Amino acid sequence: MSETREFGLAGIIGTSIQHSRSPVIHNHWLAEHGLPGRYVLLKVLPERLPAALKGLTALGFRGCNVTTPHKQAVMPLIDHVDPMAARIGAVNTIVVQPDGSLRGFNNDGNGFVQSLRDEKPDWRPDDGPITVVGAGGASRAVIAALAAQGAREIRLVNRTWEKARDVAAEFGPPVVPVRWEERGESLRGIATLVNATDQGMAGKPALDLPLDALPREAIVGDLIYVPRVTPLLAAAQARGNRTVNGLGLLLNQARPAFEAWFGVMPSITPALRQAIEATF
Ligand code: NAP
Repeated sequence: MSETREFGLAGIIGTSIQHSRSPVIHNHWLAEHGLPGRYVLLKVLPERLPAALKGLTALGFRGCNVTTPHKQAVMPLIDHVDPMAARIGAVNTIVVQPDGSLRGFNNDGNGFVQSLRDEKPDWRPDDGPITVVGAGGASRAVIAALAAQGAREIRLVNRTWEKARDVAAEFGPPVVPVRWEERGESLRGIATLVNATDQGMAGKPALDLPLDALPREAIVGDLIYVPRVTPLLAAAQARGNRTVNGLGLLLNQARPAFEAWFGVMPSITPALRQAIEATF
């Protein structure tokens, strides 16, 4: 424990990080637990990524989060990649080990799955079929976590068919690719719907997805949190479906990272939610 009492540094490495809420989250937890330390923004251009990663150990950082565009690029540059991160094909958290080596994790998918449970405690990945819209990096994280936690049928819908087909082939059952034209029909009988596209984000058009076939008991998740209620979530709420936005993912993925860096598993308290709300 004495080591966790030393001043601890962590941060987020990316190129467009000025709007990241991660400093609010981790600095809130440091203060709450009376731990000396700071979580900082680390703007790193792609050509400086190898040097920046080496610098983490040299500067005594506990580790860092990794965001666009470095989530894939860090993988060959670190010493150990956790199996879930390898399956997703991206790392979102790096932990400096006692010997100075770097381990990479990806908590995004598990963070999102936990946020579904936080909203609906009796929710289970095998409650029924799940439709995931989008086949990019965030979708891969969600699919990997859902599959690892027992999902039996994941209908993967993507605008570009080849991507849905390739991701489904790579993950194998339970992932089934669905053509974009069949996206509305893919909602029939499902227990869970996830938007893993950027459609509905502030400044972008709404996700083009008719909800007529969506069962009212299904829970609807959107990885977006700006705005906190996307047009998809508003439409789902209007029909009586329960919803979660991407803030739950952000908060839940941060918890194991904080524990790995600072030795304490933090909680998502009303005070933390208020601190995040104040940033909007
Ligand atoms: P990405 O790799 O760029 O993938 C984007 C996806 O959106 C692709 O499947 C793409 O389909 C689809 N898409 C783009 N424009 C579309 C359109 N007009 N109609 C239908 N589909 C369209 O992005 P990502 O990293 O996976 O991120 C996806 C979302 O998750 C973003 O909104 C991001 O902010 C969010 N996210 C949130 C968190 C969090 O902490 N809450 C963490 C990670 C990501 P095509 O293949 O056809 O191009």
